[in-house]
Amino acid sequence: MGVEAKQETLGFQTEAKQLLHLMIHSLYSNKEIFLRELISNASDAADKLRFAALAKPDLLEDDPVLKITVDFDSKKKTITINDNGIGMNRDEIVDHLGTIAKSGTAQFLDSLTGDEKKDSQLIGQFGVGFYSAFIVSDKVEVFSRKAGESADQGVLWESGGEADFIVESVDKADRGTRIVLHLKKAEKEFAESFRLRGIVRKYADHISIPVMMVKEDVDSDEDDKEKKSKKKKAPEYESVNTAKALWIRPRTELKDEEYKEFYKHISHDFEDPLAWSHNKVEGKLEYSSMLFLPAKAPFDLWNRDVARGLKLYVQRVFIMDDAEQFLPSYLRFVKGVVDSNDISLNVSREILQKDPAVDSMKSALTKRVLDMLGKLKKKDKENYQKLWDEFGQVLKEGPAEDFANREKVAKLLLFSTTHTNEPVQDQSLENYVARMQDGQDKVFYVTSESFNTAKSSPHLEVFRKKGIEVLLLSERVDEWFISHLMEFDGKQFQDVTRGELDLGKLDSEEDKKQQEESDKQAEPFLNRIKESLGDQVAEVRTTHRLTDSPACLSIAENDMGAQMRKIMEAAGQTMPDFKPVFEINPEHPLVQKLDKEADEDRFSDLAAILFDQASLAEGGQLDDPASYIQRLNKLLLDLSQ
Ligand code: ADP
Ligand code: MG
Repeated sequence: MGVEAKQETLGFQTEAKQLLHLMIHSLYSNKEIFLRELISNASDAADKLRFAALAKPDLLEDDPVLKITVDFDSKKKTITINDNGIGMNRDEIVDHLGTIAKSGTAQFLDSLTGDEKKDSQLIGQFGVGFYSAFIVSDKVEVFSRKAGESADQGVLWESGGEADFIVESVDKADRGTRIVLHLKKAEKEFAESFRLRGIVRKYADHISIPVMMVKEDVDSDEDDKEKKSKKKKAPEYESVNTAKALWIRPRTELKDEEYKEFYKHISHDFEDPLAWSHNKVEGKLEYSSMLFLPAKAPFDLWNRDVARGLKLYVQRVFIMDDAEQFLPSYLRFVKGVVDSNDISLNVSREILQKDPAVDSMKSALTKRVLDMLGKLKKKDKENYQKLWDEFGQVLKEGPAEDFANREKVAKLLLFSTTHTNEPVQDQSLENYVARMQDGQDKVFYVTSESFNTAKSSPHLEVFRKKGIEVLLLSERVDEWFISHLMEFDGKQFQDVTRGELDLGKLDSEEDKKQQEESDKQAEPFLNRIKESLGDQVAEVRTTHRLTDSPACLSIAENDMGAQMRKIMEAAGQTMPDFKPVFEINPEHPLVQKLDKEADEDRFSDLAAILFDQASLAEGGQLDDPASYIQRLNKLLLDLSQ
């Protein structure tokens, strides 16, 4: 075995070191979770072995019953967690316990604040894991032997949880992993039967294989002789948990706590889920599913490289994590398991993609999630708001991805609107429709860079005056997403900055006539402005959408909006120059002053200023800010003379 047999001391990866430190210090108030994490890993290891044994039954050797054992020694202050799962070889143990493979770890660590309370929340989102052993231990030994390898291929990993760890080759007779925790002095209370059983029951009842502990000596009326002889016997073990896959147990039998703990096991999340849905389907297809809505977005929600999806089981046998084929991507924040009786045990990701059974499960599961969201929205406003704030932007991908369900998704959306004028998105389209004015047949919206520019857009002036509500959209995806939404409840969506303002029946005939009149009269004036501004503008026209502002910019009916242009440009597309329509308010004193201006220089200065101001009001950037300032200062000087 040469060099490998020797003991080797290795350093933790920098990120692992930081995480260890953080873990020990910020999770102190919830230290008993170490056992949940270690049992969770042991259960994963059993799942992986069972899966590997489908192709290679020999891996199970003569030890086919998978289980976890928890022992303790109160004198030595140790707890031992033993599993006969897949195990780890030397390279794997160094890799899995010495480094953190998750992408985005560095980013995650950068986002920490140093405030232990806040950071402990964050670390919960990141997933706690093996290092939680060091919350209660000052030394951890991990003995492991990979399934299929011989007894002399065992490996020992040992660390005090500081800067480094030791790996050493050892003999290990049995397959799997044994973890020995040497408890810190202050934590010796954990090495005690009652306490440990309590923790196992609380956190691991949902684990589908038995978690065994030594049977407690309850028969105190045994005579001494019997007691003595018993002492010599090997201790008897019993299962402390129910040891049945949670999702196949009937709903009526399950307590909320069990759902919550199961969620934490499969999601590696630290917080309770907001809601869940547990179902068993029988008929042409047979499957069970358990779906959860998380309360917090993971730190890497927007990282496209991270695999997401449900945990797939086939007839109780774990097949794979992150099976993304069972839900559309806009529901990728949903966690859960699906256990099918129809899919073949030796299924691969490629086969899943083509399996028509998977497709029909996907549409049924999608419907379940949408119903669960709808129910939460109806029954528990506060929690739905939480969910929306975390995942609303992801849900907005729905109408584009899942055309068939766009009505359902539309009912789940929340917006900021001119009704509340608050940045929080808490108004549904149903609320909007209920507040529509007589004669209003459209849902009006404005998109902008930020909530504040949307809120103060000059385009809203006439809507405010007439008391018509407008959705205030300021997320990057909004313009794109609403173009796929198309309509709600038979009402089309209308961008208030696009095309000529047409309020339809909301304008009186009298108003319309008056407008036409004044438009005609203004024609020579409009031409004069157009000449002065040249090809910066597509068109100059009068508008009646303004009450306070002198002018605004709008988008020609078929042009792309600013947000979409930015998205396209970011994707490497070169976009043709954008020319807005310049609309002026004929009632405004500045515009009337401009109309009367005889001096050509002053006319073009004032026209240019109005144009630039309109651009600024949209949250736009000026091509030539210096000229704008010069012109404005010239006017100010004129004023003061
Ligand atoms: P996670 O469970 O989220 O992957 P952990 O920190 O809990 O993260 O565990 C890190 C890795 O160590 C696991 O992904 C697994 O590969 C390995 N591991 C931990 N415990 C065991 C075990 N009992 N048997 C086999 N592998 C294990
Ligand atoms: Mg884990």
